[in-house]
Amino acid sequence: MGYFRDSRRIVVKVGTSTLTHSTGHLNLRRIEKLVKVLSDMKNSGIQIVLVSSGAVSAGVAKVGFGSIPETPEAKQAMAAIGQSELMKIYDKFFSAYGHTVAQILMTKDVLTNPSRRSAAENTFKRLLEMNCIPIVNENDSVSTDELTKFGGNDILSAHVATLCEADLLLNLSDVDGFYDSDPRSNPDAHLIERVEEINDEILAIAGGAGTARGTGGMIAKLNAAKIVTDAGIPMFILNGEEPEILYALLDGGHIGTYFCAPKSKK
Ligand code: GLU
Repeated sequence: MGYFRDSRRIVVKVGTSTLTHSTGHLNLRRIEKLVKVLSDMKNSGIQIVLVSSGAVSAGVAKVGFGSIPETPEAKQAMAAIGQSELMKIYDKFFSAYGHTVAQILMTKDVLTNPSRRSAAENTFKRLLEMNCIPIVNENDSVSTDELTKFGGNDILSAHVATLCEADLLLNLSDVDGFYDSDPRSNPDAHLIERVEEINDEILAIAGGAGTARGTGGMIAKLNAAKIVTDAGIPMFILNGEEPEILYALLDGGHIGTYFCAPKSKK
């Protein structure tokens, strides 16, 4: 099974630009396809933890606000509205494939406070033992500063992968992987299939922000890759536009960019 050979537990991160239309409303067709693929992976015996963005955007679309608001309070309010919308859809689609979802909203201080960290670890462990699919997002409605904010789900997903002792992190984005220059401005940009080590040269290639609706950008993904690979967990950056491409990985193929983890055997 290639990269999935020794993977018993996988964290999948999916970004706002993959989950929503340009209107900000949820892209139901894509979410349904993603849920089907993840359900099938789960059926094949792999434990899945999903880190999903999209709350702020879904909230904005639901109240008809037009664009992502500027002020933190307004964004927090939108996240509170959109998060329940997001979970409603995931619950509906995963239930259709016979799976139970569980919502976990994280703040950064959970990682640094030992008793809260251990409580979070135990909850993930128990949910996975119960065959549930934890769906994680940052607790945007109450995270406000450096201490409590992850500053994006790329970084959050890396911490979740280490917290859950995952075997692999899949970062589903709106690009095919990591390129040697920005493919949006350079048609000759070349996809890098395998990154052995995240060094200064690799970090210098990244840079620039993501799309208007997402927050990530390539530098955040590389920082996430550094966190997980240092912890011995490899990571892929893949295009989430067609979630069925995950079957190619499951069948032993290679897509996107693979970041090797020195301590892992793969
Ligand atoms: N937590 C934010 C949301 O759900 C997204 C953060 C991100 O895209 O990295 O809207």
